[in-house]
Amino acid sequence: MQVYLVGGAVRDKLLNYPVYEEDWVVVGATPQELTKQGYKQVGKDFPVFLHPDTGDEYALARTERKSGKGYYGFEVYAEKDVTLEQDLIRRDLTINAMAMDQNGQVIDPYNGQKDLKQKILRHVSPAFKEDPLRVLRVARFAARYHHLGFKVAAETLELMHSIAGTGELNALAAERVWKETVRALGERSPQVFFEVLRQCGGLADWFPEIDVLWGIPNPAKWHPEVDTGIHTMMVLEQAAILSDQPVTRYAALCHDLGKGATPRENHPSHPGHEKLGVPLVEKLSRRLKTPTEFERLAKIASEYHLHLHRLEELKSKTIVKVLEKTNAFKQPQRFEQFLQVCEADFKGRTGFEKRDYPQAALMRKALERCNQIKAAEVIAQGYQGKKIGEEIHRERVSAVKKLLSEQNPEASILE
Ligand code: ATP
Ligand code: MG
Repeated sequence: MQVYLVGGAVRDKLLNYPVYEEDWVVVGATPQELTKQGYKQVGKDFPVFLHPDTGDEYALARTERKSGKGYYGFEVYAEKDVTLEQDLIRRDLTINAMAMDQNGQVIDPYNGQKDLKQKILRHVSPAFKEDPLRVLRVARFAARYHHLGFKVAAETLELMHSIAGTGELNALAAERVWKETVRALGERSPQVFFEVLRQCGGLADWFPEIDVLWGIPNPAKWHPEVDTGIHTMMVLEQAAILSDQPVTRYAALCHDLGKGATPRENHPSHPGHEKLGVPLVEKLSRRLKTPTEFERLAKIASEYHLHLHRLEELKSKTIVKVLEKTNAFKQPQRFEQFLQVCEADFKGRTGFEKRDYPQAALMRKALERCNQIKAAEVIAQGYQGKKIGEEIHRERVSAVKKLLSEQNPEASILE
């Protein structure tokens, strides 16, 4: 039997990109031969094994033929006579369809190296259309390698367009879609994932609340880029600079969904879009079956981002209310993520990218001051029952008032 390194590891080695996992393909062996050598079979549908020492995945070379609808509608053939070339042609992109033998020699029947040099994401064969998830995968690779200058090949984009046109993306399992999405959110340029999906008409199936944002205007004074879809992509780009956490980036993506639901006669203004966005975030998140922390942070971002932008106009009472409503005292890390989303929202506008966002620092200080008020001390003063919470709240408000007057002596007079 022969063993080859395949897929992402070969691609990323040739790109001089960090390799996180190594996948191997085994040609000319049977499952019995592998188990005898100590490999552990995983998964019933595909002949995939784990190496006894490294835990790497070893798959028997296989061919796949579409035999029905959905992910499991594949006929897999993995007998000893399947060649490396046959295994490579079932893969999605030419740059993912290379193998490397034990001497470091690259086997590249579908010109992956050429596409790597020319920075092109190109499908290997027409069988690409047999798994609609590949549309999302291409968009994710575009997001990952955007900064290197990679582009989707015109003919691949066309094929993606026709797949999206059949409505097959809808038939994907939410779990697979979310898995690709959360990986895409973790890539270097996550906004490109959504842009590429939109370009091939594949955004509306799973992300209709985002898709509708294009064409919805904002006031040019605050949004020189005007369009809400463009703004959202710029915010996601900024969020990716501020944080590598998919949860923060997801909330950035979702912060303005409410603008898709405001009455047209009010445009380009969007009064009340913050609250209008909350049920839309819920709808999107439940469709995608996101973990709850994604939905929670995104809802907070939608409902409270304007409060942060307008922090300097808020009364101390309202600032404390925002801290309490967002549960900042008990979940300071999530609150920090929320502040990053607000900053990304501010910077995600044409010409605002390098501007300061002092609101975040001020809000951090407000939280810090409020944190100095301890329940134990309030109780020691003789407060009981419901009165404890009320007194804590009152002391928080005066602490924030004091902070504001230190920052800006005129503010306290105004209040
Ligand atoms: P990453 O660095 O994100 O892991 P990868 O290319 O290794 O990228 P994997 O999802 O680990 O991606 O898959 C390993 C290889 O298996 C891919 O390079 C590709 O050749 C093939 N592959 C995975 N999923 C599909 C799919 N849905 N359709 C076709 N080929 C696929
Ligand atoms: Mg991989």
